[in-house]
Amino acid sequence: MAAPKMAPRNQGAPDFKKFLHPAMARNYGRWVDHAQIKPGVYKHIAESGEELFTVRAGSPRTLSVYKVREICDIADRYCEGHLRFTTRNSLEFLTTEEANIEPMIDEIENKLGMPVGGTGRSFSNIAHTQGWLHCNLPGTDAAGAVKAIMDVLFEEFKMDDLPQRLKISSSCCQINCGTHSDISVILQHHHPPKPDYEMITQCELPKVVGICPVAAIRPSRKSGRDSVEVVEEKCMYCGACHGQCPGLEIRDAETDTLAIWVGGKSANTRGGPSFMKLATFGLPNNPPRWPEVSDAVRKIVDAWKEGAHEFERVGEWIERIGWKNFFDLTGFEFTKYHIDSYRFARTTFNISSQARR
Ligand code: SF4
Ligand code: SF4
Repeated sequence: MAAPKMAPRNQGAPDFKKFLHPAMARNYGRWVDHAQIKPGVYKHIAESGEELFTVRAGSPRTLSVYKVREICDIADRYCEGHLRFTTRNSLEFLTTEEANIEPMIDEIENKLGMPVGGTGRSFSNIAHTQGWLHCNLPGTDAAGAVKAIMDVLFEEFKMDDLPQRLKISSSCCQINCGTHSDISVILQHHHPPKPDYEMITQCELPKVVGICPVAAIRPSRKSGRDSVEVVEEKCMYCGACHGQCPGLEIRDAETDTLAIWVGGKSANTRGGPSFMKLATFGLPNNPPRWPEVSDAVRKIVDAWKEGAHEFERVGEWIERIGWKNFFDLTGFEFTKYHIDSYRFARTTFNISSQARR
């Protein structure tokens, strides 16, 4: 029987195997060794003996079409038309010819203007969220703060002499889609959302009520129609409701600040994954260079470089020396806000996926 004719698939992730570099496709699942041969360059060796070289460069993530064409031109000439973007928006150029490495590095650094590095025990490209360019929620521009921090840590990106790899992320609201990291810069709101009842219409009410993690939003009637109200003493200013309904505006140019969290780790290595903890907060949301944020990140990195044992990530170093010493070394003030004592969390955490109405 003839196979049923399927409509073209035009949604979901395409089959990644179609896009692999030919050497990766030939040796798929049959790699036996790899090594960093210099900062920014890896060599992978397959069972067959074939070698594949990867040159990693830091991209700013937001790229013009002209810059993408220049990147593709290098990939066409050296990499059989293939390249990869990592989850941290680094560019990876792949080649089977070792002789291509130095000319490629020269073009990447001098033509594209992108640094080669971010491998091994270095500072890898910063993961950041959409910022003012794209998302509907940002209280700051994560991408702009990243540019300023990358400038401060530029040399660490190109070297391989840190105690261990260093991952930094930056998020433009407290939903923190920038992920857990060794050091994470996150916007912080300081008051509950201010409902605009004209803007709150029926369409998103169940989602708004359902999404609040501490049940601070409940259905109510306003001016004769269904609406919501915010129980302000329960609200922890996370901003999740604003993502569901623009009528629950929480951003505030006068009061929003930035906080820095430390010690997050996703890897299973050594002590296993760990959550981030608050290091400092109340840093001014100060575009276009956010100097107070860059200074605070620099302080943490310098203290870690100075005191960490070989292979210790930031969180592992802090756990070993103790949090008191971390605050002493960085000069950050320890306050009552560093202690997680939110009393409504115990009894009202919304652990149901059901929307309440
Ligand atoms: S961190 Fe928040 S504001 Fe920024 S892109 Fe993610 S959801 Fe949007
Ligand atoms: S979702 Fe967050 S900001 Fe909105 S009411 Fe609940 S706790 Fe407050």
